[in-house]
Amino acid sequence: MHWARICSRLQTEVGEVEYRTWLKQITLGPVDGDEITLMLPTRFLRDWVRGQYGDRLSNLWGSEIPAIRRVELQVSRAGALAPGASVATVSELAVSPVEVAAPSIVEARNDLAAPLDPRYTFDSFIVGKPNEFAYACARRVAEKPSSVGFNPLFLYGGVGLGKTHLMHAIGSELVREGKVSVAYMSAEKFMYRFIAAIRSQSTMQFKEQLRSVDVLMIDDLQFLIGKDNTQEEFFHTFNALVDAGRQIVVSADKSPSDLSGLEDRLRTRLGCGMVADIHATTFELRISILEAKALASGVPVPAKVLEFLAHKITTNVRELEGALNRLIAHANLFGRPVTLEATQDVLHDILKAHDRRVTIEEIQRKVSEHWNIRLTDMSSARRARAVARPRQVAMYLSKQLTSRSLPEIGRKFGNRDHTTVMHAVSRVTELMERDNAFAEDVELLRRMLES
Ligand code: ADP
Ligand code: MG
Repeated sequence: MHWARICSRLQTEVGEVEYRTWLKQITLGPVDGDEITLMLPTRFLRDWVRGQYGDRLSNLWGSEIPAIRRVELQVSRAGALAPGASVATVSELAVSPVEVAAPSIVEARNDLAAPLDPRYTFDSFIVGKPNEFAYACARRVAEKPSSVGFNPLFLYGGVGLGKTHLMHAIGSELVREGKVSVAYMSAEKFMYRFIAAIRSQSTMQFKEQLRSVDVLMIDDLQFLIGKDNTQEEFFHTFNALVDAGRQIVVSADKSPSDLSGLEDRLRTRLGCGMVADIHATTFELRISILEAKALASGVPVPAKVLEFLAHKITTNVRELEGALNRLIAHANLFGRPVTLEATQDVLHDILKAHDRRVTIEEIQRKVSEHWNIRLTDMSSARRARAVARPRQVAMYLSKQLTSRSLPEIGRKFGNRDHTTVMHAVSRVTELMERDNAFAEDVELLRRMLES
């Protein structure tokens, strides 16, 4: 009885198609104390249902039978409880169902959209040089969707640099204003929905649903590379929406022209609106992000520690955040202040992984290749600009990307003094601020070394 009621609720919430594709196959397993087990025929289904509906299932069970605190999802094996038996087990729980208000299905109504993370807002996004353009574009689209020149908005950049954050921020802002309907989903989810629609012979419905939104956001589009049918479907959806004056926002790890493996006509259309690159973070931006997160946590973190982290973890804001969170959790748990020593200790494993990433030799090799000089010139005494400048860049990158000290770096560059390295670092920093082309060269090298 409980289960039947939950099923019918799920059916209204997620829609008939979704329900038939993913949820209908669930059978009841045993109840053990406060835990109920639900069975699915395959591992894939189990993982999918767990990822997409796990929380909702827990909530529904909790409101049907408050004694149930956990819902476990398992792959059914031969010999699992017969469905009849398990239902009996459930109804034996001498708990009367509580009257609960109709579940809030407002959010679930548009069963295309993945939920937006309320933490990812424009306010919580720290703006710096590397992301200010992408940020401004995102803001603009949130204020005035479908403006000429901003459709589609294509955001791209490396992992963990804030693409998803900005997309959610656009979505939340628009939803808050209540003016338009927004659907956000990963390209992966787009594919699964599409496959599910084909399987249940409801592609028409899928298309109609997609084409009825005002703003469609697809995250991590690179996932569609090699998935030709899904790409085709996305292409048509894309055209239909743009032609109808709706807004598209797409993210990927590369620019449209670099997304090889994506159909040409799709690539061309993706590049037709606004293309905004989120560059690798700078030291300054990393510090600002850390300061904001430390402040929000309420745990005092010394500036020295923030600087240390910003120096060591350079690639990915998610990892930077993770490291800081671990420090804060540790401080809270043991009631000890955050210090540099504690940081090195608590983050031992993370720091080690980051050290391993790039070696000075690799940096020297890449930099000499890039400017077409001999590798030996990295340690030679030659002072000609054509050689000295790349050498300075290599020193700069060694300081940024490895945890070697200035004297150690100096030694690897033909036994130079640490003040020479220091000078190189400030010279390159200065040049990058003045000369955009040079800054891009250095960023490119950094990216290549980090990937
Ligand atoms: P991506 O989608 O580009 O891989 P995310 O948007 O998931 O990256 O960002 C990873 C994490 O880093 C998120 O928790 C996000 O909030 C955080 N983050 C990234 N950039 C910023 C920023 N500029 N300010 C604040 N948080 C950020
Ligand atoms: Mg992302």
